[in-house]
Amino acid sequence: MSQSADTVVSITDVSKSFRTGVTALQGISLDIRQGEFVSLIGPSGCGKSTLLRIIGDLIQPSSGSVIVNGKPAHQARLDPDYGIVFQDAVLYDWRTVARNVSLPLEMLGWDRARRRERVKEMLELVELTGFESNRPWQLSGGMQQRVSIARALSFDPALLLMDEPFGALDEMTRERLNMELLQIWEKARSTVVFVTHSIPEAVYLSTRVVVMSARPGQIADVIDVDLPQPRTAETREDPRFFEHVTAVREALAAGGHLPSATAPELF
Ligand code: ADP
Ligand code: MG
Repeated sequence: MSQSADTVVSITDVSKSFRTGVTALQGISLDIRQGEFVSLIGPSGCGKSTLLRIIGDLIQPSSGSVIVNGKPAHQARLDPDYGIVFQDAVLYDWRTVARNVSLPLEMLGWDRARRRERVKEMLELVELTGFESNRPWQLSGGMQQRVSIARALSFDPALLLMDEPFGALDEMTRERLNMELLQIWEKARSTVVFVTHSIPEAVYLSTRVVVMSARPGQIADVIDVDLPQPRTAETREDPRFFEHVTAVREALAAGGHLPSATAPELF
C-alpha cells in the first residue's frame, strides 16, 4: 500500500453491510494525515458512526481495509493508539472523576505516582481541577463530557475519535467546548476524526470536512477548510467562515440531503 509517512489513518475501499441487509457504507476511501482535524458530516443514518467504529476497530468492515499508524486497526486498538469519545460521556458512576480519567492508565499498567501526575495534568487541561473526588453524576453534562475527553487524551493517543461528543449540549456550552477542544488539539498535536451533523461546528473545528451521502453511505465531497489557525471567536464572524458553511451545505444538498434552503435539523 502506498501511503506517505505522515498518514495516520488510511481507509481503502471500505464497505459495511449489516446482517439486517442494510448497506451502511460503500466504497469509502480516505487518508488522514498527522495533525489533521477531519469532520465527518451527513444526516442521521448515513453511516458516520459506523465509519468511526470501523476506524476504531469496534466493528469490522464487510470489505476493504483500515490501516492506523501503519498497522491494522485491530493492532492500533490493542496498542492503544487512539482514544474515543462518544455522544454521551460513558463514565463509571462508582468511580471518582480522577479514577475515571486514570482508567486507561490503570489498564496500561502505569504506576500510581505516574497516574496521579497525569490525571492532574489532564484535569487542568479540561479545567476540572478541584473536581477530582466528585462522582460523575455530580457534574453537568458539559463537565462530564470534559471528563471523557480528559480520559480519552490521558495516554497521549496519536488519534482521537469523537462521535458527536457535544451533540447533547446546549449551544453555548458546545461553542465553549469547541474552543477548548481546539486548544487541546493544538497542544497535544494529535489527529482528530470528529463526527457531527452540525455544519457550523464542522467548519469551525476542521481542517477538512468529509461530506457523506446516505444509503449507502459514500463520500460525496471533501472540503478543505483553510481558515486561519488558531480558530477564535472571530472565526465565526469571518465572511470566509460563511463561505465554507455554504460550500458544505451545497455539498450536502448535492448529496440529496437538503431538499430546500431550510433544513433546521442540520443546524
Ligand atoms: P449515523 O451515525 O450517520 O447516524 P450509523 O452509522 O449509526 O449512522 O448507521 C448507518 C446505518 O446503518 C443506519 O441505517 C443504521 O440503522 C444502520 N446500522 C447501524 N448499526 C447497525 C447495527 N449494529 N445493525 C444493523 N444496522 C445498523
Ligand atoms: Mg451516529
